[in-house]
Amino acid sequence: MALLETDGLTKSFGGLVAVDDVDLAIEEGESISVIGPNGAGKSTLINLVTRMLDASEGDISFKGDSILHDEPHEVVQKGVSRSFQTASIFPELSVEENAQIAALAAEHGSFKLNFLRHRNNYGEVDRLARRTLDAVGLLGQRDVAAEDLPYGDKRRLELGIALASEPDLLLMDEPTAGMSPEETADTVKLVEQVKEELDLTILLVEHDMEVVFNVSDRIVVLNRGSVIAEGSPEEVQGDPDVQEAYLGG
Ligand code: ADP
Ligand code: MG
Repeated sequence: MALLETDGLTKSFGGLVAVDDVDLAIEEGESISVIGPNGAGKSTLINLVTRMLDASEGDISFKGDSILHDEPHEVVQKGVSRSFQTASIFPELSVEENAQIAALAAEHGSFKLNFLRHRNNYGEVDRLARRTLDAVGLLGQRDVAAEDLPYGDKRRLELGIALASEPDLLLMDEPTAGMSPEETADTVKLVEQVKEELDLTILLVEHDMEVVFNVSDRIVVLNRGSVIAEGSPEEVQGDPDVQEAYLGG
């Protein structure tokens, strides 16, 4: 059984079919990348899986059960997390407080409603926060205000926040967008490291084919909402349809 499976997944915005009949199966432990030109439907696919958007047709299952009608927080609780989201950090809070809030929110879903009720459960929240900060190498900076972290460490914290829910599947939408080559290399290294350490399955969405070739077991190429190629980096790279989709924009 695949960890994540989409079956005929389709999303239309009015007359535009952004994701068109996509069948995807991601096995546990796999690193899979979804690539494709701008507007191919990559972010929409992620938004469907995280339940930020309702599908128009098809199904999505995680660990064998449909999550098609779940709330976003329910999907998080089941083990799907998304990283490198802008505004996931509370700048004035410490690194550790940011991780604790993320752990608490993941544990209890509707964090605002449940905060008081569950505040005697700090032991577990603390454990998750520490584990997470350790995994992203920020334990030593736990008392620093998030806003005072250097750029690279902020990205580490964003990843840490996503990991505080103890996900099985980590989704990333263009995590290295706007980064320098050095920052990109650091991020790739960090993601590979936490993948090992925490036994993650990874779905990476990426515009840049260069970035994914080193890290992916398998690549799925989207163009105008449809899967046009799928395979190892070598297979995909040599595919004429893929080359045309990229060159043709
Ligand atoms: P990618 O991430 O691959 O660049 P997107 O998934 O963001 O592509 O977008 C796919 C297509 O769907 C694009 O044509 C985009 O303009 C359109 N689209 C995305 N989100 C919306 C939305 N909320 N409303 C209308 N059209 C959208
Ligand atoms: Mg996108």
